Amino acid sequence: MTITKFAEVKDKLIAIVSQENVLAEKEAMADYTHDETMGLSSQPDMVVKAENTQQVSAILKLANQYLIPVVPRGAGTGLSGGAVPTAGGIVLSLEKMNKILEIDEENMMIVTEPGVITGALQAEVEKKGLFYPPDPASLDSCHIGGNLAECAGGARAVKYGVTKDYVVGFEAVLPSGEIIKLGGKLLKNVVGYDLISLIIGCEGTLAIITRIILKLVPLPKVKIDLLVPFDNYATASQTIVEIIKSKVVPAAIEFMDKESILACEECLGRQLPFRDAEAQILIELDGDDKEYLEKQAEMVGELCLNKGAQDVLVADTKANQEKLWEVRRKISESLKLTGGLKVSEDIVVPINQMPQVLSQLQELSKKLAVKIVCFGHLGDGNIHVNILKKELADEVWNKILPEAINGVFDITVAAGGTISGEHGIGVTKKKYVPRVLSTAEINIMKQIKKTFDPNNILNPGKIFE
Ligand SMILES: Cc1cc2nc3c(=O)[nH]c(=O)nc-3n(C[C@H](O)[C@H](O)[C@H](O)COP(=O)(O)OP(=O)(O)OC[C@H]3O[C@@H](n4cnc5c(N)ncnc54)[C@H](O)[C@@H]3O)c2cc1C
Repeated sequence: MTITKFAEVKDKLIAIVSQENVLAEKEAMADYTHDETMGLSSQPDMVVKAENTQQVSAILKLANQYLIPVVPRGAGTGLSGGAVPTAGGIVLSLEKMNKILEIDEENMMIVTEPGVITGALQAEVEKKGLFYPPDPASLDSCHIGGNLAECAGGARAVKYGVTKDYVVGFEAVLPSGEIIKLGGKLLKNVVGYDLISLIIGCEGTLAIITRIILKLVPLPKVKIDLLVPFDNYATASQTIVEIIKSKVVPAAIEFMDKESILACEECLGRQLPFRDAEAQILIELDGDDKEYLEKQAEMVGELCLNKGAQDVLVADTKANQEKLWEVRRKISESLKLTGGLKVSEDIVVPINQMPQVLSQLQELSKKLAVKIVCFGHLGDGNIHVNILKKELADEVWNKILPEAINGVFDITVAAGGTISGEHGIGVTKKKYVPRVLSTAEINIMKQIKKTFDPNNILNPGKIFE
């Protein structure tokens, strides 16, 4: 941006949101140059904090007039660079739009602004015996608006689905500044094309979401968690297939390998159960009937032991359950702190392909002599494959990394899978999109982008090369 244009735009932005909501100094903008994607950052020209929909609309109108890129931003916990201002311009933060507007018990719905922290939203509805199930491991920091933009998943997707399964309506601002209101407190709605589904998961490239209506379900009264250690990946993953086949539907089935557990131990500073096991699965069962759930837990525990589990640890108090989930939610951060540079892939395959995929990933790790650590939502076929630099020299890492990423995707695609289940494409995965979408499919998507955003000002350079 030229100095004159910068000054002109800055003055106009101050007129829209007031002086305190426009940042233009390098140090003040430091937190907005990156998200949680390792090794990716970029300087915006300005950061603007909007307080309401009208301001978002006015900012987009201005950006369209001056042809300035606008990057919507929630909490910046993204793992594919979606909120990173790679083309400069304005970072539009929704952090001040952080109010829950209504909890409607009659319709079992919540109306909220996008900047509410997901875990805080869950805690509020739970006070009323209601439940918003999608639970990304980042739930203590990510925003509900960011969850819609990425269609966030989480551990409980096995039984409850992902973000899109709970969105019944929202208000959004188009790149032109026009405000649209889609859906409502409606459980059915088939009028016209499904724009709600189109905008959910669009990674902030089609519209900025400013008000959200989510449906809720009754809060299950009882939970039982089982932590089950195994000698190897194959037995652990085959056992998960058997659990699903047994027609029990746990709320969550998470997979953690030994390396993940040891990294967490180091970060949490305490010894964790079954630390010598090559793999662990964490199973959560929930429901309203305690006796029935206990029987299910017994059955699942026995099934695990019959399939070769070393042991079964049962956690039936909230405090013990929290301890188990704390470990699971700390893995990503722990690997970052202990493994140096890491590149995380977020593959999904049919659940019954997982035993074979995990064993092929182990072979790839051996073949390339690079550490590959796996953890994640194995119960819905979505695991996070982390390629760690550890002590590899830069030249070796730079040579091996593309081979490792392509190797991971070769295995995934051959198993009928895809390259992202919940973290999105953003910047880091876009060159791999043609591995799973055809030219015809990509062209339709690019035309949709053009229809929404003819001047390409909204989060440009994301998803597509
Ligand atoms: C430790 C850790 C664990 C994680 N675990 C999970 C997990 O289990 N499941 C999962 O799905 N993800 C997980 N994530 C990834 C991340 O938390 C999610 O993608 C989350 O949805 C991002 O929310 P955010 O508010 O931080 O969004 P940001 O990172 O700020 O933005 C993400 C994208 O959404 C766009 N955006 C943000 N707000 C809006 C809006 N209001 N309107 C339009 N576009 C918008 C941005 O432009 C960007 O493209 C994890 C991340 C970390 C660091």
